[in-house]
Amino acid sequence: MSGGTRSGRRIVVTGAAGFLGSHICRALLARGDEVVGIDNLITGDLANIEALFADDCFSFQRHDVSSFVHVAGPVDAVLHFASPASPKDYLEMPIQTLKVGSLGTHNLLGLAKDKGATFFLASTSEVYGDPQVHPQTETYWGHVNPVGPRGVYDEAKRFGEAMAMAYHRYHGVDVRIVRIFNTYGPFMRPGDGRVVSTLLVQALAGEPLTIYGDGEQTRSFCYVDDEVRGFLALLDSDEVGPINIGNPNEFTIKQLAELVIEVTGSTSTIVHEPLPVDDPVQRRPDITLARERLGWEPVVELREGLERTAEYFRGR
Ligand code: UDP
Repeated sequence: MSGGTRSGRRIVVTGAAGFLGSHICRALLARGDEVVGIDNLITGDLANIEALFADDCFSFQRHDVSSFVHVAGPVDAVLHFASPASPKDYLEMPIQTLKVGSLGTHNLLGLAKDKGATFFLASTSEVYGDPQVHPQTETYWGHVNPVGPRGVYDEAKRFGEAMAMAYHRYHGVDVRIVRIFNTYGPFMRPGDGRVVSTLLVQALAGEPLTIYGDGEQTRSFCYVDDEVRGFLALLDSDEVGPINIGNPNEFTIKQLAELVIEVTGSTSTIVHEPLPVDDPVQRRPDITLARERLGWEPVVELREGLERTAEYFRGR
């Protein structure tokens, strides 16, 4: 275990070696918290947190949280970010995705209950499925196909929300639920299959950019620093949620591809490939609740965020 000496709180982060998890670990350590990172490394990468091992306030366990989770000593909060999160990953690992969202959430709620810790669930805009209400407010119950290929992620996260609320209501566990919308930035895995990483890597390599379908489907992209600031605001608040944290500026995938080409100065062309099954037609968060209750809103524009992310991929 870590021999941390700072006066902050002791926080367990699952998915610590992943894209969001690694950013959260850095942000918590920077503000003086002690971090126990857990990851089974099936989609995470130790390179994302390599620099943290020098910090006495950071410790790491390689473990699959779908099995019983043991953490010695006091814990103030459990942040559950472990899961394959890119459609490509969860289509390749459907059973693990279902398990980490269900059994994993259950184990970590048990840990939080035992330790008297706050439980923080990384939920998702995918709970809204292919939404018929636009933009999506937290009161919308969603439009998910439970038996489609994406259902493994969507339903696991929906179950996780239900389980967290049951522990909150029945056991009195202090809970936070965040619904995360498309987030991008440094430390994304180049081959993760998500649209921002895929298009940036293609543009930098001078390869054709792959647009699935006609590219008229929309997403709303949040830069990771904004997103993580939102997580900490929620963690430090008294709000249970669920609460949307995302950037409400909405783009078609075609617009995104054009901006990627512009920002990278690439000579790449665009090719069209088949649209994946159940790919949502539109997605945009209503962030009224986050603005009012957390005083949070994103500040990084897509162009600037893409420039910073391109810089990261260039360096790899
Ligand atoms: N997409 C695309 N080209 C790619 C990867 C994704 O056009 O190379 C599309 C995908 O079909 C979806 C959107 O971009 O409409 C966002 O996909 P992503 O995998 O990033 O996440 P999602 O929002 O679907 O979970």
